[in-house]
Amino acid sequence: MANERVLIRCRNCGTRNRIPVARLQDGPRCGSCKQPFPPIPINSRPVMVTDRTFADEVIASPLPVLLDCWAAWCAPCGAMAPVLEDLARTYAGRLKIAKLNVDQNPMTSSRYSVMSLPTLLFFRDGKVVDTAAGALPRLEIERFLYRFLN
Ligand SMILES: [Zn+2]
Repeated sequence: MANERVLIRCRNCGTRNRIPVARLQDGPRCGSCKQPFPPIPINSRPVMVTDRTFADEVIASPLPVLLDCWAAWCAPCGAMAPVLEDLARTYAGRLKIAKLNVDQNPMTSSRYSVMSLPTLLFFRDGKVVDTAAGALPRLEIERFLYRFLN
């Protein structure tokens, strides 16, 4: 775990750096232009995002983001919630897990055309690189993560 590395794109020159997770909060610098990276928050729990915080929390996140689009009335969403809590602990520092309540945040859910619940959107450098619709068991989510994070 201590040797895990994460791809962080430099905002200054665009170079992708592989940074050890253990060093994220030591003020690492870009290997190319030597600019220091801003502090990279390590979340061990899912982060609730809204239409208002989406750009900061997801689009601008230096870490890749798994966004769970859910609603309170959606039973499969509720069943998947503890799995996402658990994955947030397992992947802390390598991945941010974010949750978007689609009923309360219609702008973001319509922007990404969320049709069914739950929907998982995988973001890297502010762009959706993969999507999964429907409740998935932990193993299936980890299969997505394996592709996404490597
Ligand atoms: Zn750079």
